[in-house]
Amino acid sequence: MSQGFGHPAFPVDTHIHRLAQRWGLTNGKNVTQTEKDLKKIFPMHSWNKLHLQIIFYGREYCEARKCFGLECKICKTCFPDRKKPVQTKKTLIDIFAIGS
Ligand code: SF4
Repeated sequence: MSQGFGHPAFPVDTHIHRLAQRWGLTNGKNVTQTEKDLKKIFPMHSWNKLHLQIIFYGREYCEARKCFGLECKICKTCFPDRKKPVQTKKTLIDIFAIGS
């Protein structure tokens, strides 16, 4: 809907679910809650572009097994007092991928 027809949407894949937790934008209870939280924070006109930007950033710089919220300027700036790695809650997709 978002990419094909320009309908405002904020689909949450594993990257968005993980980064939203690392950036403190959701508690990561599940992907449905993450989507609701992100939609509340960001204006509707930004959803389609922002969704892609977060996915690309996650793939390129903020990978699942390489950083846990302590290394680059984003988390250092937003969470200067953070001392412990962020343990993100997994989606079902993540759990199935680990087993394969
Ligand atoms: S420090 Fe940077 S790479 Fe690490 S979780 Fe935060 S945004 Fe991602």
